[in-house]
Parts: sequence; structure tokens; C-alpha cells
Amino acid sequence: MGAIKDVVDLATQLSESVQDRRFTSDLFKIIQLVNTIQSEQASLTEKNIELMSENADLKQSISVFKSDIAILNQQISNLKNQAGDIPLDIPRNAHSLLSLKFKTPFYYADGDPTPFCPTCWEVNKKQIHFPSPLSSGVGPEYTCPNCKNIIIHPRNEYRESKGISA
Ligand SMILES: [Zn+2]
Repeated sequence: MGAIKDVVDLATQLSESVQDRRFTSDLFKIIQLVNTIQSEQASLTEKNIELMSENADLKQSISVFKSDIAILNQQISNLKNQAGDIPLDIPRNAHSLLSLKFKTPFYYADGDPTPFCPTCWEVNKKQIHFPSPLSSGVGPEYTCPNCKNIIIHPRNEYRESKGISA
């Protein structure tokens, strides 16, 4: 900025000491150009200050993000440690599943006379007890509350399974 002022001062001095009108008018043009440059420089300086302020804001944001990322990484690492204790390939309720034995047409658990739905167990690994059967002409009729499958236990098989002799 100092150099620009020196040029303006010099040109002003020259224009005052010179008698030639054309030369004076050229010097005024130079002074105007220098003034334009000065005003452009001022707006560049202003722009530069804005950019510096934006830059400071961005640095601040980056530092906040870095700290957030560090916290998230810590949480991920904690969750990984917790997840390490849970075997992921075993169904969630596996520990509560009973050992079932097939006796046509149902599955039964040891010591439990109520039959389980074979469709739910074989297809979906769900252990669904049948509610009390309705009676039908052929034998008791069971309806699964989950898959709505209906199974009629033929009367002679039903009697065998209950130890009733015909
Ligand atoms: Zn079922």
C-alpha cells in the first residue's frame, strides 16, 4: 500500500510542475488508474480477511469432527468388545430350545405330553405347542396357533400313543 501512495504522490508532484497540458492529462490518467488499483487492492484485502476467518471456522469444525470421530471409535471398540462374548451364528433363543423327539405325526419333549407343531419346528425351528385338540370323526384335530397348520391324529395312532387299547 505504501508503494501505491508513493506513485500517486509522485504523479501529483509531476502534474503540478509540468506546463504541457497533454502530459498533465496523461498523469491524471495514471493517478486514476493507480486509484483503481488501490481500491481493488482494498477489496482483495477485505476478501482475504473473510477467507482467513472462514479458514479459522473450518479449522474449528475439523477439530470438533476429529474429537467426535475419536468418541465414536471408542464406542465402536466398546461394542466390539461386548459383541465378542456373543456367538453370532446361534439363534438368540437357542439356549431355551428343548430337545424334541419325533413320534408320528408330532414332536414331543421328554416328560411333556403336549405335542409340538412339526411344521414350525422343521421349517422355522420354532417350538410351538398345539392347544387342546377338537374332536373330529377320524381323531383329535390339532390347529397350530402360529402357522395355522391343521393335523388330524388318526384315532388308532392316537390310542396307541396314549396307551389305550382298542
Ligand atoms: Zn405351526
